Amino acid sequence: MSVTVEIPVYKVLDVITLNPKITGLIIVDMQNDFAHPNGKLFVPEARSIVPNIKKLLDKARASNVTVIYTQDCHMKDDPEFKIWGEHAVEGTWGFMIVDELKPEEDEIIVRKLRYDAFYGTPLDHILKVKGIKDLIIVGTVANICVLHTAGSAALRMYRVIIPVDGIAALTDFDKHATLRQVDFLYKGVIVRSVNGIRFM
Ligand code: ZN
Repeated sequence: MSVTVEIPVYKVLDVITLNPKITGLIIVDMQNDFAHPNGKLFVPEARSIVPNIKKLLDKARASNVTVIYTQDCHMKDDPEFKIWGEHAVEGTWGFMIVDELKPEEDEIIVRKLRYDAFYGTPLDHILKVKGIKDLIIVGTVANICVLHTAGSAALRMYRVIIPVDGIAALTDFDKHATLRQVDFLYKGVIVRSVNGIRFM
């Protein structure tokens, strides 16, 4: 079945200024299996957003923003493989974060079990300990792990900020649906580009 619908209007800001002391940058699942052409579940757009995320990452590091990477992490025979096939098996090349975005020693990596990076992980505890209130979320896949993590963050009363050019989707519909949901339901902030995110 195919239907044509109009995308409801959602708000997109050109610029947002954030306090680095209470801001966290979460980079979702930028692993070889999703963001490298040889990966098992390659999302082409995930490759093209790498330079945008790198730009934001460099800015965040320069402003001492807390950087957290999520890393999809599965045991062999995980039931999720019935949906997606085998991917992100702990310790494999596909599980590793792409070289361009390699975490630094003092940056935090949260191994996530399901789409939602809060589910069964210490992420909320880490953010509370660090006094984080605003969460910039980038990465892949927009309507899957990014949206589940954004929703879960919003339910815990974090303010979610998403730059449009920092997330990767498989279709335009998926991307618009993600951004609309973040704006409408989670009262997050959509920013046109990583260039519009400032720290001071
Ligand atoms: Zn997975």
